[in-house]
Amino acid sequence: MTLLTFRFAPSPNGELHLGHAYSALLNQQMAAQAGGRLLLRIEDIDIARCTPEFEAGILRDLEWLGLHWEQPVRRQSEHFAEYRAVLDRLIAEELVYPAFMSRAEIRAFIAETGGRDWPHDPDGVPLYPPLDKALPARERKRRVAENLPFAWRLDVEAAARVSTRLTWTEFTDETMTSTRTVEAMPRDWGDVIVARRDVPTSYHLAVVLDDALQDISHVVRGQDLYSATGVQRLLQELLGLPAPRYFHHRLILGPDGRKLSKSLKDTGLAALRQAGMSPREIRRLVGL
Ligand code: GLU
Repeated sequence: MTLLTFRFAPSPNGELHLGHAYSALLNQQMAAQAGGRLLLRIEDIDIARCTPEFEAGILRDLEWLGLHWEQPVRRQSEHFAEYRAVLDRLIAEELVYPAFMSRAEIRAFIAETGGRDWPHDPDGVPLYPPLDKALPARERKRRVAENLPFAWRLDVEAAARVSTRLTWTEFTDETMTSTRTVEAMPRDWGDVIVARRDVPTSYHLAVVLDDALQDISHVVRGQDLYSATGVQRLLQELLGLPAPRYFHHRLILGPDGRKLSKSLKDTGLAALRQAGMSPREIRRLVGL
């Protein structure tokens, strides 16, 4: 029997807080109960915001919490060539297109078209206008040749034609005994970015490739990524990658009832440690 494999995948663009502690410890607990493996992945494709200092802080916090993970740790910034190779496949299959509009241009376009009803993605970001998708090939080539900056976006309609019915298996309790099938709704996100202007990948593309390369069988992560799973299922289908099982856990909320953010210092693990809190108290605080 193959071992079940779990992963905790933080981004070193800030300090870990109680929500990360819950996610990491829950992964560890579920891996232990299943007699499986726990991997750590550093998701640092955002080379402007991720720093070695934040990464060192994350490792320190996780060790202090008592997390044990296998070596080596996969650091995404060391694998851009692998992401480039899968991106090239999507380009060759004409499932992605160069998107030239800046955020300001997107805003202006939507305002001009009287876009009060303009659709937004589940995170509240306006969907990308369809202009670039309709650019004649010659014009695209000219802009690329002129070195105009662009991101690669998924043509979600073209992609949806290739992969018709998409679902994922969500396990609905922490004992993993109960599951349900969820319909993936990748269209809700419009033409998502699969490669940013500065690097040959995006969060979604790197995650699906890494989950496959690392043989992840069970993705345990926060509820805030629930609808993102729809996009990731679509990319898995397009790239012929296996689909892990998913468990989207509850979020740890701050005293104001809002989701914790990396700038909330008082729920940061380093601050709590310095204030004298023990790992056992952290577990109790997050309900484990
Ligand atoms: N790197 C992501 C984050 O820190 C998590 C990605 C995932 O678990 O799929 O929010």
